[in-house]
Amino acid sequence: MADYDYDVLVIGSGPGGYVAAIRAAQLGLKTACAEGRETLGGTCLNVGCIPSKAMLHASEYFEAAAGGAMAAMGIKVKPELDLGAMHGQRKDAVKGLTGGIEFLFKKNKVDWLKGYAQFTSADTVEVAGKSVRAKNIIVATGSSVTPLPGVAVDNDKQIIVDSTGALELAKVPGHMVVIGGGVIGLELGSVWRRLGAKVTCVEFLDQILPGMDGDVRKEANRIFKKQGIEFKLKTKVTKAEVKGKKAVLTLEPAAGGDAETLEADVVLVSIGRRPNTEGLGLDKAGLTTNQRGQIETDHDFRTSVPGIWAIGDVIPGPMLAHKAEDEGIACAENIAGLTGIVNHDVIPSVVYTWPEIAGVGLTEEQAKERGEVKVGKFPMLANSRAKTNHEPDGFVKVIADAKSDRVLGVWCIASVAGTMIAQAAQAMEFGATSEDIAYTCHAHPTHSEAIKEAAMAVTGKPIHI
Ligand code: FAD
Ligand code: NAD
Repeated sequence: MADYDYDVLVIGSGPGGYVAAIRAAQLGLKTACAEGRETLGGTCLNVGCIPSKAMLHASEYFEAAAGGAMAAMGIKVKPELDLGAMHGQRKDAVKGLTGGIEFLFKKNKVDWLKGYAQFTSADTVEVAGKSVRAKNIIVATGSSVTPLPGVAVDNDKQIIVDSTGALELAKVPGHMVVIGGGVIGLELGSVWRRLGAKVTCVEFLDQILPGMDGDVRKEANRIFKKQGIEFKLKTKVTKAEVKGKKAVLTLEPAAGGDAETLEADVVLVSIGRRPNTEGLGLDKAGLTTNQRGQIETDHDFRTSVPGIWAIGDVIPGPMLAHKAEDEGIACAENIAGLTGIVNHDVIPSVVYTWPEIAGVGLTEEQAKERGEVKVGKFPMLANSRAKTNHEPDGFVKVIADAKSDRVLGVWCIASVAGTMIAQAAQAMEFGATSEDIAYTCHAHPTHSEAIKEAAMAVTGKPIHI
C-alpha cells in the first residue's frame, strides 16, 4: 500500500460508483470517489430516476384530481396547479437523497475527491490539479444524452431541451413534441400531458418502447393514445429551428419521402444516451472503447488493463440504476477477493407511466427464437383489486419453456407493475417454473394475484376468466 494513496478509487458517484465505493469501504479497503458534479448521486439522483419520479408522482395526483378518477370514487375536487411548489418538492427530494449519499460516504470513511478525474497512467488520475494513485480504479462515469444532428439542445431557453431541461420547465407547454418513444419520452411526455400540454411523440421505429415484449409495446401504445398522446411512428426529425418562442421541426418518413413541418412550444430530445468517456484520458491508461463508445469488461468487471474496472452505463447492458448498483457491489467484492456476480439475464426494467410497464427476462419474441414456449396471459380487468380501483388497463404475461416449464420472462402493464415485477425477478433468480408461481399463495385482493393467474394460464386455466 506504501506507494498508493488508495486501495480503490472510483470515478463517478452515480448509483454504480457510490455503491461500489461504499461496499469497498465496508470491506475494509481504503476508498475514494471522484465526482465532477457539485453533488453526489450521479444522473440518477440529480437529473434522472429521482427527479423524474418526483414529477411523475405529483402529476399523477394532479391528473387523478383533474381528470375525473377521484370524482369516480366520490371525491369532487378542482385542482389548481402550483408548478413552482411541484418543482420545489422535486428539488427537496433530490437534495435529501444526494445529501444522504454524502452522509453515507462520511459514515463509511469514503473520501470524496471533488472534481473531474483524468487518467495520467494506468494507476494514477488527476483530480482538481492533484495526482492520486490507486491500486484499483473503477470507471463509473455513466452516460449523457445522445445528441440529434440538426436539433440543438439549449436547456436555458426551454424550447429545445433534453431530459434535464424537461424536468425544469417553468411553465406547462402548449404543445410539446417528444423525439423518441422510449422510456424518457414516455415518462416525461406523460408528466407534461397530465399537467395540460398537448404531446406529440415522434418515433423512428414502427412501434414505441423498443426492447420490450411485442404485446406490451402494442398495448402501451393503445393506452397512451387513449390518454391523448399523439404518435408519429416510422418518422424521423431531421431539423429543428427556433423561431421566436417556438420551434419548427422538419419531419420525414423513416423510409424516405416527403417532409412535413410541425410547430412546438417545447421539444424534448430523448433518443437515447451514450457512455461518458470523453476527457477521461483513457489512452493514458491504455484503455479503448468499443464501437458504441462503451468500455468492455469481463464478467468480473475487469477491463483489459489490470487494476482498472468498469461498471454501470459506461459498459454494455441496459442503462438502469439498479443494474449499475448491483455491478458496483459485485465489482467491489471482486476487488476484495470475494466472488461478486450479477445475473444479467434477470434485470427488471420499469417504465413509470400510468399504468406502469415492467418486464424481466426474455420477450416472447426472443424466447421463441430459442425454442418452444408456452405463454399465459391474464388481463388486469379481471383482477379484483385493479377492477375495484378503477384500473382496467393492462395485463400480465408469463413466458415459460414448453418442456421444462421454467419461467423465461414476465411482462406486466398495471398501475403497480414496477412493484409486482420484483416477485417475478426473484422467482426467476430461483429458477422457478410457472407451476411454482401458480401454486404460491398470493394475498387477496392484490394486483400481484394477476401474476399467479397468468402463471396458471401457462399450463392450465386461471380461475377469474
Ligand atoms: P451516472 O448516474 O450517470 O453517474 C456517473 C457520474 O460520474 C456522474 O455524476 C458524472 O458527473 C460523474 N463523472 C463522469 N465523468 C467523470 C470524471 N471524469 N470524473 C469524475 N466524475 C465523473 N434508471 C432506472 O433504473 N430507473 C429510473 O427510473 C430511471 N430514470 C431515469 C430518468 C432520466 C431522466 C434519466 C436521464 C435516466 C434515468 N435512469 C433510470 C437511468 C439511470 O439514471 C442510469 O442508468 C444510472 O444513473 C447509471 O448509473 P451510473 O453510476 O453508471 O452513472
Ligand atoms: P431509449 O433508448 O429508451 O429510447 C429512445 C427512442 O428514440 C427509441 O425508441 C428509438 O427508436 C428512438 N429514436 C432514436 N433516434 C431517433 C430519431 N432520430 N428520431 C425519432 N426517434 C428516434 O432512450 P431514452 O428514452 O432517451 O432513455 C435513455 C436511457 O435511460 C434508456 O436506456 C433507459 O434505460 C434509461 N432510462 C430508464 C428509465 C427507467 O428505468 N424508468 C427512465 C428513463 C431513462
